[in-house]
Amino acid sequence: MPDKKNIRALSDEDLMAWLAKEKEPAFRSKQIKEWIWKKAARNFREMKNLPSGLIEKLENEFELGPVRVNETQISSDGTIKAAMLLSDGLVVESVLIPKGKRMTACVSSQVGCSLSCKFCATARIKRKRNLLASEIFDQVVLMDRLAREHYGQALTHIVYMGMGEPLLNFKEVVKSVRIITSPEGLGMSPSRITISTAGIAKMIRALADENLRVNLALSLHAPDDAKRSQIMPINEVNPLEDLKDALRYFYNTTGIRPTLEYVALRGFNDTPEDARKLLTVTKSIVSKINIIQYNPIDGGEFLPSYGNQLKRFTDLLKKGGAITTIRRSRGKDIDAACGQLANKNKLSEQKQ
Ligand code: SAH
Repeated sequence: MPDKKNIRALSDEDLMAWLAKEKEPAFRSKQIKEWIWKKAARNFREMKNLPSGLIEKLENEFELGPVRVNETQISSDGTIKAAMLLSDGLVVESVLIPKGKRMTACVSSQVGCSLSCKFCATARIKRKRNLLASEIFDQVVLMDRLAREHYGQALTHIVYMGMGEPLLNFKEVVKSVRIITSPEGLGMSPSRITISTAGIAKMIRALADENLRVNLALSLHAPDDAKRSQIMPINEVNPLEDLKDALRYFYNTTGIRPTLEYVALRGFNDTPEDARKLLTVTKSIVSKINIIQYNPIDGGEFLPSYGNQLKRFTDLLKKGGAITTIRRSRGKDIDAACGQLANKNKLSEQKQ
């Protein structure tokens, strides 16, 4: 069978041109787009308001490349992890985090990751490819379904904090946000979406220029270049001064205050000296800071901070005027928490 094109990778113009070539009326484009996005059709035969001749042509030429939920695991705290099977057999993971009325989907942007952050389990899976916008979109649709099935509630928030580095898959990530937020897609508010990055200064600026109105989180994790480069090699080409400049640009362009994420690593970045240094960073940019409890990974060199050390650290930050929140880990028992996504389910082990 000749390779079929993914219809959801076509631009609007491409779809119009194809319809014209097939002598189909232009208004079919709107109907098709509604099926492939808003109604998340799994096959062309579902497209009931299209004539059968057109459905046949679509079937012959295109595929929909749908993502499927292959396996779900539910944590004792209600967090659900789903292994998502892509149409080429690769697997990524998505996580649903229920918290009161808030239903957050954490989605992946790449299969594996090319960055080698020392504390993260995903770093051990070689980056295989970028996800398409449609594959990110499908994760959201499927997590929304899981949220309704399990909790009777629709998704309220989306975070790009699953596998991969969103800003290294810039084009498709931006496209996915546009579809998720557009009335022809899911019509979600961009203020409920957060893109998290390990810190690529140039792409933070590019994101600001896209004017998507989404939130931005920077995985800071260390208060100075020396320490940050030890745990995040990406820092060597994106040092703190450049990142701070890029965050200032983001804030000045969008008016949206970026979040700094800081995983507290025992004895490495949680001392009073670290807090003092971190305050010089937070004071130099408009931002808020989320302290994340570390989830140890198999064979990893880091441990979570001791409770009293963490308290002293956060108290110093608060006293110094930083807007500080402590984020508790969710879904640890099923390896669904931050930095634990490593395709440890049965199916993925066979496939990858
Ligand atoms: N590549 C992006 C998206 C991943 S987001 C980024 O780096 O921001 C996942 C968040 O969890 C990041 O802040 C990441 O640094 C953090 N993280 C990674 N491993 C972790 C771990 N083991 N425990 C807690 N947080 C972790």
